Amino acid sequence: MTVKRAGSILLTLAITACGGGSQSPTAPTSQSQPSPPNPQSAPPAPTPAPAPAPTPAPASFTVSLPIRPEDSRHNAFGVNSFGIHIGDHGADGHPGWDFEYAVGASILAAAEGTIQSVMPSEGGAAFGIQISHVMNGRNYRTDYGVGTLAPEIAPGATVVAGQPLGIAAAYTRTIGTVTVTYAFTHFQLDDFSKHDGLTNPNAVSPENYLDSAARQAFETIWRDAVYYQELVEPFITNPRNVVFPMTRTWTLQAGGLAPRVDFTRAHNAANDFTYVLRDASGASLDTGTAEINPLAKPLSTIDFIPAGGQRRLGVYSVLGGTMQLQYGAPGAARPTSLAGSSEYGTPQS
Ligand SMILES: [Zn+2]
Repeated sequence: MTVKRAGSILLTLAITACGGGSQSPTAPTSQSQPSPPNPQSAPPAPTPAPAPAPTPAPASFTVSLPIRPEDSRHNAFGVNSFGIHIGDHGADGHPGWDFEYAVGASILAAAEGTIQSVMPSEGGAAFGIQISHVMNGRNYRTDYGVGTLAPEIAPGATVVAGQPLGIAAAYTRTIGTVTVTYAFTHFQLDDFSKHDGLTNPNAVSPENYLDSAARQAFETIWRDAVYYQELVEPFITNPRNVVFPMTRTWTLQAGGLAPRVDFTRAHNAANDFTYVLRDASGASLDTGTAEINPLAKPLSTIDFIPAGGQRRLGVYSVLGGTMQLQYGAPGAARPTSLAGSSEYGTPQS
């Protein structure tokens, strides 16, 4: 439920951030580059001809992170990844990344550009900022939700990468039994050379646009991210156009638990899952409902609840296509750590 409410905020920001901007897609310009020498036409030589000086590739558009790594928090989620079917983005997947910030921390421009628009959100408690970027004749846009604007942030102003745009809006929510105050932004990247027919059709995962420093910083932030959809949508970049019920198969890589675990999310608003524990041949060993609490500290918890049987209590941690899972016998106490856990893998597809 909490996630759904958080999702409403996401949507508010996303609508503000993504709606109505002037979209001026530019066709990719064909780059006329000298053809490399054809090695087959070169006369035989005792030593290979020296390689021609490489033609500098046109600079590609890259972004830095809208967050300083030290401002990252994961009290409420840490990062909501691209494509996950969360809250009001359930229909066609999350078109960006949500970053959780320390309360009071600044949101940063991810690249040099020109502020295209600054629009108050529906409640007026936050603003959506759109920054346009042009690189090699191609148009890009980054979107942010900001609680309090930095004074110089206004339409038409130019910004540099890393420039503070304002302070992340903070929210207080009761999640399970814990009340958490957290701040976040919805960060979206639109590449107008891309179009996939969904809502926010130009939205792309920032993953492939990160500069090297941003990629390194992101890894440390992502490591601690927790969100309800991780069991079926565990990646930094998940596909948006999917069908429910959605099943993901996790295959044992190391350890002694079930050789295979399938999790199924019935619909795009579900916060629990059905599961099937399978043996090596794929036969069902146990099936039922899996209840998770990804925000439990120090470890996310999972209860495997078979129909009419005793729960198996477990803990888990998902990082992309790898899951550490530990659970006990039916009726046994919950493990208190991932020591001795089994490791599962799932392919990104
Ligand atoms: Zn978002």
